[in-house]
Amino acid sequence: MAKLKNLEDYREEIEQCVKCGACRAHCPVFGAEKREGRVARGKIALTHSVLEGEIGLEDKVLEDLSQCLLCGSCCTGCPNNVHTEDIVAAARRRIAEEKGLSTFGKGVAAVLGRPKLMNMLAKSGGTLSSLLFKKLPENSGLRLRFPAPYLETDRTLPPLTAKPFRERVPEIIPGDPQQPTVLFFTGCGINYMYPAIGEAFLKALKFLGVTVIIPKDQACCGLPAVSAGATKPVEKLAEQNLSALSHHQADHIVTACASCNAGLSSIYAEMGDEFDELSAKTMDIFVFLANHGLPEKLAALPKTEKRIRVTYHDPCHLRSKGITKEPRQILKALPQVEYIEMSDAGTCCGFGGTYSVYHPENSKRIGAKKAANITDSGAELVATDCPGCIMQLQDSINHAEGNQRSVHILELLSDALPD
Ligand code: SF4
Ligand code: SF4
Repeated sequence: MAKLKNLEDYREEIEQCVKCGACRAHCPVFGAEKREGRVARGKIALTHSVLEGEIGLEDKVLEDLSQCLLCGSCCTGCPNNVHTEDIVAAARRRIAEEKGLSTFGKGVAAVLGRPKLMNMLAKSGGTLSSLLFKKLPENSGLRLRFPAPYLETDRTLPPLTAKPFRERVPEIIPGDPQQPTVLFFTGCGINYMYPAIGEAFLKALKFLGVTVIIPKDQACCGLPAVSAGATKPVEKLAEQNLSALSHHQADHIVTACASCNAGLSSIYAEMGDEFDELSAKTMDIFVFLANHGLPEKLAALPKTEKRIRVTYHDPCHLRSKGITKEPRQILKALPQVEYIEMSDAGTCCGFGGTYSVYHPENSKRIGAKKAANITDSGAELVATDCPGCIMQLQDSINHAEGNQRSVHILELLSDALPD
């Protein structure tokens, strides 16, 4: 039985915080607000007081604990490797147990926890797209035509697809028997909003002769529900994915979404021994491609005459695992790309799952810094490895009235590969 850790399970880690304040330099929310309650040290002190019964779950405590992107940036500079993001997520579960989920949290948990309902809603959204959304110039996304609960009308959204990715492709795509077999965990972003990334994934693995299995009964990884403070729906989704992914024999479970990667390899890893194999087999697509010789194959392709200036944004869920080299390695090897490193590429984009819904102003403020760094780099495109970041980056660029586009690295890779 999948079981998420509770706040008490983190007591020892909470007590490892020595209040040095090194996390202040790394926390994007503290950077935006400069308030002690917003930085890791302050949140950890709050959770300790809650555990000790010194304070209750008053509104001020709830507000401070909701002001966290769960980005893990604070851990980077922490001398004691305190994972504030896990501690805050456990504190949110405690809040939900005592006070119930917020209305939005209930909606997130209800929809993600029922894959059939989610499928139906996404397809309806895709079919009614032109009625619900208006197109932005230069194909840079959509905006709602009418106000809707929890969604600002000036928020850039990607189109929903009327035919989800997993319904477009066969479950098994055979490759060269000498090459590995991988399970593709698509995640909701690719399945419902960015099917072109899924197509690009398949093209890249076909180029290497890899057999790909796309289990039809996989579900959301559950990360948005973790961010909302849900417990049972996350545990249920983990069990469903374990069953869906264990049905097939494969060498690796490959993701093209940093958040799904964190869900499967980090969150599930803490939910019980039965997840050990699944978590250990989970691999990011660019780690897989780099390990299987793609950069060398790309380097052999002739460089195009005109090249596109591209920079890279590190998704928090890859950066915190030390996956920073491989995505850049692939980008730099693309024949049509002139790679430019931007300032603070590893700083959070401000999305943070439900954070951007609960705290849109702070989310925009954090995103504005990223948009300025993209502009200063002189890049025409910002490439990344996470659908959530793609959405937030494009929104931040549009608010800054920039003309850059945000894309997945796989889309650029697909353009470089033969059909
Ligand atoms: S996880 Fe991110 S937002 Fe939360 S305290 Fe750490 S750095 Fe700040
Ligand atoms: S850097 Fe780590 S030990 Fe220091 S205050 Fe922040 S969380 Fe605590």
